[in-house]
Amino acid sequence: MINVNELSIVSNFDFELSNDEKKLIVEKLLEAHNLAVANLDFGNITNRGFAVNACSQDGIWALGTNFNNTRNEISSICAERSAVMSLFNKSLIKNNSKIFNFKVKYLCMAQAIDLNKSFKSAVPCEDCLAWFNTCRFFDDETIIFSFEKNENEKIILQATKLIEYLPYRNLLTSNVYNENKEIKYTDAASKSMSKFDIDEEKIKEILFLTYQNYKDITCKNISNQNISCSIYVNNKIYSSNKTDWTKRWFIEPLEYNLKQAIEENSDNIHIDVVSYFGDEFSGSKDEKFNDGVVSIKSLGRIRQKYAKSDTIIVLNLDNCIFVTTVGEFLPKKFVQGYKI
Ligand SMILES: [Zn+2]
Repeated sequence: MINVNELSIVSNFDFELSNDEKKLIVEKLLEAHNLAVANLDFGNITNRGFAVNACSQDGIWALGTNFNNTRNEISSICAERSAVMSLFNKSLIKNNSKIFNFKVKYLCMAQAIDLNKSFKSAVPCEDCLAWFNTCRFFDDETIIFSFEKNENEKIILQATKLIEYLPYRNLLTSNVYNENKEIKYTDAASKSMSKFDIDEEKIKEILFLTYQNYKDITCKNISNQNISCSIYVNNKIYSSNKTDWTKRWFIEPLEYNLKQAIEENSDNIHIDVVSYFGDEFSGSKDEKFNDGVVSIKSLGRIRQKYAKSDTIIVLNLDNCIFVTTVGEFLPKKFVQGYKI
């Protein structure tokens, strides 16, 4: 039903696929689509079917679909992550315990939506993007493919580089504070500053409080990764540290701050500013892969309701204080399939 020769590829980057490779991508997307339909037919608790065919740089392919034990987050896994796990296992088995370089080259994302109907291309949720934001198994060359069918009833092949979803994925913050650092604003951040009537002194104050909180940590830092976060809501700064339960289980400070702000101000609030300060690495700095200071997962959660794309983000970098926005950090918002 899809004519590969007539199928146009839509992308924001210079990109060429050989005809054979294009044919393969279409095949893999259709395979994923069939799996997504099968998952829905089986009876998915969320009533949504997705599937991904993932390919590693050494050419191994593996399929995965969304897996929902219950609706809550710990017992659910999206198709993207399911496919990457499947690909990793397959690659390990194939390499038979030998050391190999595991990087994801392609993610072919499909939905259970009938291909005869109009639909938008699939966008990864922020939980999946939190995975993709790590440097270990994904790089700036990773491409996400999906079908989209526009109003003209024409199916197109959408190709998106991972970096389009995560433009700051290689950005490293610094845990050294210096009040004389230059402050750099993106254009979007400058617009938000005047919109929310926030001046440079306020940005400095919020970052300083975040730093102080980082320095004066009172909870036990089991993970060796101390992170502080502040939010500015209704003219008040809420600040807290990451609280560790174990090395890898913790309360994320952005979400904790927001909970406090909601309790004090009721549900109807807008977060003007988010500031993070902390350790990029939980291990030694010689480690190759940072754990990250900014939580993509939490930004995704607060943006569903309490923050918008214009919410300001303040980060302490080596050479400057960088002021950007949620919309620049996460250019595409994942829309839940139900009313929030
Ligand atoms: Zn996801």
